[in-house]
Amino acid sequence: MTIAAPVTGTIDTHCPYCALQCGMRLTGKTVSPREFPTNRGGLCQKGWTSAALLDSPGRLTEPLVRVEGQLRPASWDRALDLVANQIIEIQAAHGRDAVAVFGGGGLTNEKAYLLGKFARVALGTSRIDYNGRFCMSSAAAAGNKAFGMDRGLPFPVEDLQHADVVLIVGGNPAETMPPFVQHLRDAELIVVDPRRSATAEQAALHLQPAPGTDLALALGILHAVVADGHLRHDYLTGRTSGFDEVWRIAAAWWPERVERVTGVAASDQRAAAALLAGAGNAYVLTARGTEQHARGADMVSAWINLALALGLPGRAGSGFGCLTGQGNGQGGREHGQKADQLPGYRRLDDPAARAHVAAVWGVDPDSLPNPGVSAYELLDEGPRGLLVFGSNVVVSAPHANRVAGKLSDVDLLVVADVVLSETAAMADVVLPVAQWAEEDGTLTNLEGRILLRRRAVRPPVNVRTDLEVMHGLAGRLGQPAERFPVDAQEVFDELRRASAGGIADYAGITYDRLRDGEALHWPVPSTDHPGTPRVFLDRFAHPDGRARFVPVDHSGPAEPPDEEFPLQATTGRVLQHYQSGAQTRLVAELLAAEPEMYVEVHPDTAARAGLEHGDLADVVSRRGRVRARVRCVATIRLDLVFLPFHFPGDGRANLLTNPELDPTSRMPEFKVCAVRLETA
Ligand code: SF4
Repeated sequence: MTIAAPVTGTIDTHCPYCALQCGMRLTGKTVSPREFPTNRGGLCQKGWTSAALLDSPGRLTEPLVRVEGQLRPASWDRALDLVANQIIEIQAAHGRDAVAVFGGGGLTNEKAYLLGKFARVALGTSRIDYNGRFCMSSAAAAGNKAFGMDRGLPFPVEDLQHADVVLIVGGNPAETMPPFVQHLRDAELIVVDPRRSATAEQAALHLQPAPGTDLALALGILHAVVADGHLRHDYLTGRTSGFDEVWRIAAAWWPERVERVTGVAASDQRAAAALLAGAGNAYVLTARGTEQHARGADMVSAWINLALALGLPGRAGSGFGCLTGQGNGQGGREHGQKADQLPGYRRLDDPAARAHVAAVWGVDPDSLPNPGVSAYELLDEGPRGLLVFGSNVVVSAPHANRVAGKLSDVDLLVVADVVLSETAAMADVVLPVAQWAEEDGTLTNLEGRILLRRRAVRPPVNVRTDLEVMHGLAGRLGQPAERFPVDAQEVFDELRRASAGGIADYAGITYDRLRDGEALHWPVPSTDHPGTPRVFLDRFAHPDGRARFVPVDHSGPAEPPDEEFPLQATTGRVLQHYQSGAQTRLVAELLAAEPEMYVEVHPDTAARAGLEHGDLADVVSRRGRVRARVRCVATIRLDLVFLPFHFPGDGRANLLTNPELDPTSRMPEFKVCAVRLETA
């Protein structure tokens, strides 16, 4: 397969992978970095090699339909007719909600928006959610509670260059987004991570709590802040509410008690408090490590409470933020592919929001379904029909064996993707869609800045865009053609109207402004509005303008270790791979650098299991068994093993993980489950 000639010689674009959205230049299929505020001319290995996907032999180039158990090439008409007819049959027999839609945090804003509309209007189903539920939903829930708004970083990344101290909790940007680290060059780092990660290696202070005990650690540091006289009384009085309730809990978590629970020395907790309090400019940043827990929203709330006690959020030169992971993780959760949400970060259960969006869509507000269920619940309840866009759930969802079983039971599984992912390989119909450099679209990066990613090359001739797929299906389901446009700019202009007046207000953002390179951070309520790079400088988004302390207490992991499963497993990303690895495993250079599943384990822990560095081991939890190469690492905790989640088959880390859900965010507990090690 070859790609056609470039649309123009050279296009300024952005990396297809993570939320840093590094600026790059694409000439044909040659990538070069360019100056952009988030990456300042840097790219990681994934970015440098990203063009290899454009003509990868693993690329899907024609629709596939399952015939007698085999996926075989089919025309677009046949594939779409088949899908639409089966949707109609399933819904006639079992009701609208029997067909579900699963989206992705890598989809552009236009796709995420149209997917939400497609589900609610063309399918009339409440069953839509997306893999961002697995990624940022706890931080979003905590941000909404504390600040009245969820914008990952409420300030531009460049602000971090002026930080004296940065506390990073459960994040490893040195490996997951290396160009980001240059913004931290002049700061002293405090890193909270049970592993001695590449980021922790650069820290002035590395705190290694037992997995699942971050919340206790946050309470211990908060206790030290108060006890050692660092509380910012003026800030509390002027900009917050609710501290007393939080202190009632934190008062009982003195550092020595916290040390017994977390394993982090009381002196280190006090040192962290003193470092943060003594800094002129300080930031607290959280990421998946502290979010992906059965009480993940509470964990993030605990770190926000600490930041508020220190007077950081909304202060020039200081702040609190959450590091978004997926390429459009921020925008993907703003415009309606989430079960409870309408565009503009509106709530689906808000009558005024329903009326506003229904008017833009030209439908009766009462025809819109009510909020559905979250991503794992949607998969677990077993829909009769499932349409997956840009997600590889049999690798990325928790308790992966159970999810794969559910998928094999559905009457109709449709996957729209760029490559034949492990989920696509199970599908009844596979729809080949255009990828990043082959289509126009906007993304919202980790700092809430909207970016235009422009088409640089033409897709293979028999490949369509996701927008065209939705258009084709919606028409077959009886929708007027104009209701589901295929032009990205046209969809974006509709999104602008739908988001107008909402929290994530894109009304004033136009493709022309983005083409001109304007730095537009939402909200941008009008075309003469300059955007809002720093959202909380004057006030927080609650009606009273104050940030709210949220009282939370430590409860520990849902599945503590025991005699049968004495260790704890945690999962994460490595430098060379991205998410389920469906794309990066197709890039020869990345696969050669990190070719197989491994388990990081302390040498003494390995020896107790009869294992040595380089052996094959089985990691076993109550839900499954993973085959992995032992990698002995002397700096990891003795009670912990680490597994990357990018590998397929019997190397899927999520065969082990616990689908216990956070009560607010409905995010699963990816980051800790009880396991044992066995020789393979
Ligand atoms: Fe930048 Fe992330 Fe792409 Fe690496 S993967 S080049 S850090 S956007």
